[in-house]
Amino acid sequence: MSEDCIFCQIVAGDIPGRTVYEDDTVLAFLDANPLSPGHTLVIPKAHHERLNDTPADVAGAVMSTLHELVPAVEAAVDAPASTVAFNNGEEAGQEVPHVHGHIVPRFEDDGGRPIHALVTDRPDLSDDELDAIESDIVAEQA
Ligand code: 5GP
Ligand code: ZN
Repeated sequence: MSEDCIFCQIVAGDIPGRTVYEDDTVLAFLDANPLSPGHTLVIPKAHHERLNDTPADVAGAVMSTLHELVPAVEAAVDAPASTVAFNNGEEAGQEVPHVHGHIVPRFEDDGGRPIHALVTDRPDLSDDELDAIESDIVAEQA
């Protein structure tokens, strides 16, 4: 637990949360400032700042919970779709530094936009640049 982390305080029960799923590793609760009805956050109970810091088994448990919860959340609020996403790091818009997946139920004509609307100034990358990025990412995993 990180003392000044709001999500750790929810895990500890020091701050109330509307829990929709819980097991030994994962907690899911309603977002306090929802983007739509049913907006849910899925977090590991242990404090990890970003996906990059999260052990693979814990990240797998978070993903598995997202997989279980997405249809339940959509059904509960009668949503035909949802945006499922992580703001992974401050520059990506992460405000609470305890890794969390968002489930945002989506509705026809809800005024929301797709993930491709996140960035308006797209880079114009050449085939060579894309090839170089491909091999750099593969090399980083070696
Ligand atoms: P981020 O921008 O870090 O990806 O998202 C943080 C989310 O946490 C926001 O959607 C915000 O509404 C939610 N949030 C912040 N503080 C609290 C809280 O105390 N309780 C709950 N349930 N959600 C919170
Ligand atoms: Zn935390």
